[in-house]
Amino acid sequence: MNDLTETHSAAWENDEVRVDVLFSAAGVATNIAMVSKFSGSILLADVGDGTLRDLLSQGSLDFVNELNLIIITHGHFDHMGGLYSLLGFLRMLKRSTPLDILIPKGCKEVSSTIRTFKDSYCDTLPFQIRVQEMGHGSEFHTDFFHVRSLEVEHYGLENAAGDDVLMPALGYRVSIGESVIAFTGDSRMCPVIEEVVKGADLALIEATEGTSVEAGKVHLTDDEAKQLGFLAKNHLLIHRIPKIES
Ligand SMILES: [Zn+2]
Repeated sequence: MNDLTETHSAAWENDEVRVDVLFSAAGVATNIAMVSKFSGSILLADVGDGTLRDLLSQGSLDFVNELNLIIITHGHFDHMGGLYSLLGFLRMLKRSTPLDILIPKGCKEVSSTIRTFKDSYCDTLPFQIRVQEMGHGSEFHTDFFHVRSLEVEHYGLENAAGDDVLMPALGYRVSIGESVIAFTGDSRMCPVIEEVVKGADLALIEATEGTSVEAGKVHLTDDEAKQLGFLAKNHLLIHRIPKIES
């Protein structure tokens, strides 16, 4: 049996923040936790399938109350498919403090998932879910995390006409104390992507594709991702295509 978790997880830390890439594989899930060392507060960056399982694997239920903010880069299933389960678990354990969720403006996949959840449990939801639509240059601040979003270029290929359609997609820069963590989300190479990663203490860069030009239309190629990585102080390449041995 292949252990995908072993090959698709990573961690990084400095004095102010710990970043756990709990899991990141293209077409499966990207689940990232940033933990403030000042407060223990947690920011989740993308919540693909298995986010709840990955959090529980950390061996603590602290996240039920320490989860401060969720930021979502775009509506592809591998970046938001675990949201419903996570919200259900927080409800089951009676979280009481509000939860803020940042999504790209017009991201129907996430807004409709949250709406369905709220409609299903409108009388029995012990915590408030607050959705904030973000655009290019939007900022959002909590007591623990300062977030800036930038619009990046990512194509959704799953449409009937087969045309290339840009979907609402964001990269994020998250400040914790003096530290800046950058997350590209899914993006092809575009001028904004450099702005996302430039000077960050850590850049999380998706590097889904090999080297073909065609592939680079949707995602970053390996070479592009590595070049971008050098604009940050440190970088991790994530969102690799899982190798399945039959
Ligand atoms: Zn995507």
